[in-house]
Amino acid sequence: MFMQKTELLYEGKAKKVYATEDPEYCIVSYKDDATAFNGLKKGTIVGKGVVNNRMSNFMFKLLEQKGIKTHFVEELNERDTVVRKVSIVPLEVIVRNKAAGSLSKRLGLEEGTPMRVPVLEFCYKNDDLGDPMVNNYHILAAGFATQEEIDKIASMSLAVNKTMIEFFKSVNVDLIDFKLEFGKTSDGEIILADEISPDTCRFWDIHTGEKLDKDRFRRDMGGVEEAYAEMMKRIGLN
Ligand code: UDP
Repeated sequence: MFMQKTELLYEGKAKKVYATEDPEYCIVSYKDDATAFNGLKKGTIVGKGVVNNRMSNFMFKLLEQKGIKTHFVEELNERDTVVRKVSIVPLEVIVRNKAAGSLSKRLGLEEGTPMRVPVLEFCYKNDDLGDPMVNNYHILAAGFATQEEIDKIASMSLAVNKTMIEFFKSVNVDLIDFKLEFGKTSDGEIILADEISPDTCRFWDIHTGEKLDKDRFRRDMGGVEEAYAEMMKRIGLN
């Protein structure tokens, strides 16, 4: 497929999205810029764009093999990927297998406490409001999605979790939690979009509990680039 960037449609914290000559496709370009705490903390993680692009595409391909539809079309180079054009459902879906981060704080659970069932949380995607958590009623009341769409998003998220837990376990990584975003195609189908990377997942070494994700940046732990590179090595991408 021959695709070229035309106009810049959107520049986010970690990615740029370009239009192409074909209205059904966009090109996503991953940057090394890192932010945390709703943009309060800023920095650069050298090589992160390459890791996140390649890891996301690897995960999307794996999920497609399991029958989960994603926006992935074709990797153009180490930072750029052709994706289906979708309108993003304004929800961040968080899936949790063990307590960490904001859930640990909110419920007073020690980080690493196993969840008896996977926990699904929805947040309204709005930086000015700090992505507030919303429930099913809020989503319907505000018109962020229909019940049918919520049900589809929930079942897809749990299916993604199942595949990801199994895959990461096979490379000695404990999948603690992660964030997904979904989009709607021009014919109304809900597909998985955005990225799956150390920016959006918590990965702990299955034996030592060492953090191999963006928490090293958020918490000033050092070894950030090394952790991203280690994840690439584990999944066989370098
Ligand atoms: N997450 C994300 N983007 C966000 C918020 C959370 O990718 O804007 C991911 C985060 O990397 C973690 C999971 O969602 O894997 C749960 O994050 P949490 O609610 O604990 O918030 P945090 O501690 O990151 O503020």
